[in-house]
Amino acid sequence: MFNGKAHTALRTLVESGQVAPDEAQRQRARMAERVLAESPTLKRHNFDEIANRDVARMLAAVDEACFAKGLHACIAERGAVLAACASSRMTSAGGKTVVGKPRHGGAWHIEVRLAVTPLFRSFRDDEPTGEREINVNGVRCEDRLTAALAVVEHEAMHVAEFLCYGTSACHKPPFQEAARRLFGHESHKHQLVSSWERAHVAFGLTPGCRVRFTFQGKPYEGIVNRVVKRATVLVPDPNGMPFSDGQTYTKFYVPLGALERLEDDT
Ligand SMILES: [Zn+2]
Repeated sequence: MFNGKAHTALRTLVESGQVAPDEAQRQRARMAERVLAESPTLKRHNFDEIANRDVARMLAAVDEACFAKGLHACIAERGAVLAACASSRMTSAGGKTVVGKPRHGGAWHIEVRLAVTPLFRSFRDDEPTGEREINVNGVRCEDRLTAALAVVEHEAMHVAEFLCYGTSACHKPPFQEAARRLFGHESHKHQLVSSWERAHVAFGLTPGCRVRFTFQGKPYEGIVNRVVKRATVLVPDPNGMPFSDGQTYTKFYVPLGALERLEDDT
């Protein structure tokens, strides 16, 4: 097991550091102001655009405020690489930390990914997302930047655990206790708006519901099968692909706003 000075300091912080919950909230607000001031991209709390560099700024802010720059020191001490990016590929997770450990030694490569799709789906001015509160890791969030920071805090905890123990698990008590002590996280799950919730609240779409849409000038009717960023609609087609219900369909990927919901009994 690795045993440098920075490693020992980080381990002590992870195992016994403590911040009062209201201080954690003030700390997050200060981080938000700092990141906003530094970023040429974000511009406002409910930002419309986010760069990889902004996720790196958030991670650096969390490292400084919550770990006394211990992540940075530990990374430097062991010659590892820590990268951060904004990812549009994750549609339900809030973020992800990926660790590359070369099989024959060499530097670890740790990457923190912030999922932007659920963030952009939440806190929209132009579309209702229902009345419910948005909670990320048990932290009530009023805007995208606060939610992004709460996600990055969680991912930073993964980075800290990987550096301290070589492994990390947010479903296990040590992670959850540390995240509660250091960031005031009461839960390890985010409740950003999911694809299904947005599809349902904003567009009245549910799985199995019948819809009409136009594709290349031609009208189609079908059944909503799946919703991620767009809906997968199955349109009955004798020349289509066989499905589990024994019928044959052609699959269309349709933007949610282009679907018109049909009554179920017609
Ligand atoms: Zn996690």
